[in-house]
Amino acid sequence: MPTVRLAVRVEGVVQGVGFRPFVCSLARRLALGGRVANDSRGVLLEVEGEGDGVSSFLRALEREAPPLAVIERVTTRELAPCGETAFAIAPSHAGAERAALISPDVATCPDCLRELFDPADRRFRYPFVNCANCGPRFTIIEGVPYDRAATTMADFRMCPDCAREYEDPADRRFHAQPVACPACGPELLLLDAAGQRLNEDAIRGAARLLRTGHIVALKGLGGYHLAADAADDEVVAALRSRKHREEKAFAVMAPDVATARRLCELSPEEEGLLGGPRAPIVLLRRRPGSPVAAAVAPGNRFLGIMLPYTPVHHLLAREVGGPIVLTSGNVSDEPIAYLDEDARARLGAIADAFVTHDRAIHIRTDDSVVRLFRGAPMPIRRSRGYAPQPVSVPWGFARRVLACGAELKSTVCAGKDGHGFVSHHIGDLENYAAFRSFLEAIAHLQRLFDVKPEVVAHDLHPEYLSTKWALEQDDVELVAVQHHHAHIASCLVDNGERGPAIGVAFDGLGYGADGTLWGGEFLVADVTAFERAGHLAPVAMPGGVAAIREPWRMAAVYLDEAFGGAPALDVARRHEGQWGPILELARARTHAPLTSSAGRLFDAVSAVLGVRDRVSYEGQAAIELEQRADPSETGTYAVDLIGRGSLFEIRGAALVRAVARDLLDGVSVPVIAGRFHNGVADAIAAGCAAARERCGLAAVALSGGVFQNMLLLERAIDRLEARGFRVLRHRQVPPNDGGISLGQAVIAAGASARA
Ligand code: ZN
Ligand code: ZN
Ligand code: FE
Repeated sequence: MPTVRLAVRVEGVVQGVGFRPFVCSLARRLALGGRVANDSRGVLLEVEGEGDGVSSFLRALEREAPPLAVIERVTTRELAPCGETAFAIAPSHAGAERAALISPDVATCPDCLRELFDPADRRFRYPFVNCANCGPRFTIIEGVPYDRAATTMADFRMCPDCAREYEDPADRRFHAQPVACPACGPELLLLDAAGQRLNEDAIRGAARLLRTGHIVALKGLGGYHLAADAADDEVVAALRSRKHREEKAFAVMAPDVATARRLCELSPEEEGLLGGPRAPIVLLRRRPGSPVAAAVAPGNRFLGIMLPYTPVHHLLAREVGGPIVLTSGNVSDEPIAYLDEDARARLGAIADAFVTHDRAIHIRTDDSVVRLFRGAPMPIRRSRGYAPQPVSVPWGFARRVLACGAELKSTVCAGKDGHGFVSHHIGDLENYAAFRSFLEAIAHLQRLFDVKPEVVAHDLHPEYLSTKWALEQDDVELVAVQHHHAHIASCLVDNGERGPAIGVAFDGLGYGADGTLWGGEFLVADVTAFERAGHLAPVAMPGGVAAIREPWRMAAVYLDEAFGGAPALDVARRHEGQWGPILELARARTHAPLTSSAGRLFDAVSAVLGVRDRVSYEGQAAIELEQRADPSETGTYAVDLIGRGSLFEIRGAALVRAVARDLLDGVSVPVIAGRFHNGVADAIAAGCAAARERCGLAAVALSGGVFQNMLLLERAIDRLEARGFRVLRHRQVPPNDGGISLGQAVIAAGASARA
């Protein structure tokens, strides 16, 4: 049997996931010689031995890879054998090009969890236990290649015991960069609100405070959280008022699956998602009478639940023994605090105590939020546990692109080769702190993936901070991308497709190609270009953004369109003094931009039905309307589609008229809300059918924030499938503006390839 030697390159998520130890033990098992190292493109190894052994090695390399590894490509090259019989791990080399994929942060694995609660283990109750299969990654990495020196663990010198584990290829901690123990690693501290260290075990002290109605700021993986007893109405209300967060739901951390099951209904898929390595917040249907304070998620049938994903959480949750509210450590809409001094300054007035530690967070990352739709995950916020894992773009980026997203729920995306690297969630780019976070995200992505952009993509809206930033960049080609085209392209790429397809983009709003505000769009689009096929009939938004904060204004406009005057409805009586002046603004088109937004139509109906007249967060009126709707209602309202053949319009006013008539006839709000959802779904199906007559396409891509509405999504897909359409929906990036940057990147790459 002849001896062969191969150079093997492995690309994908292969750093920080225990890949080299796996290779090393595999080679030794097969009695092969050679070496393995990380470099900036992934893992590079040389293997030598009998031909059979080397073949088995290559097969096992892909088949038996560690659970967190994602192998994208293995390439081999033959070398001259040199008689090597031993296998070793070689030091990493920093190459010129950085293409290695960085692992997201990974929830504590079962092995580490066992050690955490084993009194005989040297890491018993150690809040930073981790191994090659779990622990912090993205949030502590400062540069590549991924080695301890390039992480925020660089300053912690390993003790001899940890060093032995780190260097032993047979150990679970072999080359686990954040490896630590009580003797050498980070330390957990309990501080009072003024920052003075309290002389008490941090976990027991924090648990005592939580059980006695206090708010505790807790340093986590990607930033600070604020924690409070989820069963205590008073403390949850106090948290709301101190955080200036009036109504938006808080997430809850349950100590274990059994508790989560007592709070919410759980399908096997949902349970898998909750307890999996990404450990996101999962939106779950709440059980009636679940022991959670009403103030946690007012007016919502769903509850955002997560399970402990760091050792600190496991220790604390077990000590508290019940569910705790765990919400971003920030005031109102600012980005989550992640630097210790900043956290103390910003959260000092909210928290009664701090649980903190001395391992720095390099990049802030919020908890991800996911819900399950027909058994598949649909991200609402894609961040911790997901970023910076790329979305694969099969046809690739011909040039390096940086896409800077829109404004709300901002993300940025770096496009390179076959990957779209969508950043962690940055937040709403409406304040300086968020803008700084945006700049940090861009710098971090560029450093990790070596993407020096040739093309910068931005939204058409001239007032977005992201657009303004893009326009200041020199030596790059700028590509402006229409907002709803970006939504549809992101949905196509999310499904690995290039189009063309009929795109239904329903959202709050985005700047249209004609200078009006769009948001109820039917496009015929692929990942390079689009045509507008139809849209909701535009109406005035009296007072501009004020009409977004006050949905009753949209009710006034739509009722005026529907009836040519206000019918005798409560919504008009509630705003008697302002109703006339608002309608004058709308009719005179002064300070009242036109919009075809589907979000504003939902707002109008929410106000007409007395569900919500004013909102304190984006999408609130529509979210509450969905929650009030009777899902068993099968009645619907007729679609009013005009201009079939050319650019068609769907009149939202016809739906509002039907809603108002039912209300005057004494039909209940849940039934009307149900019929309205069915009516919008019918309008979507009718619009797609009209578009199909023109373009002949049978694929439909659904995108935009409105499709976070599960009732609408369900009904729309049912109707479209019944009419023979193939429906694409989001699975990897959110349908809301968090997915925009991916769509922009792909469109801009195509635009420059054509130029
Ligand atoms: Zn582990
Ligand atoms: Zn140690
Ligand atoms: Fe949008």
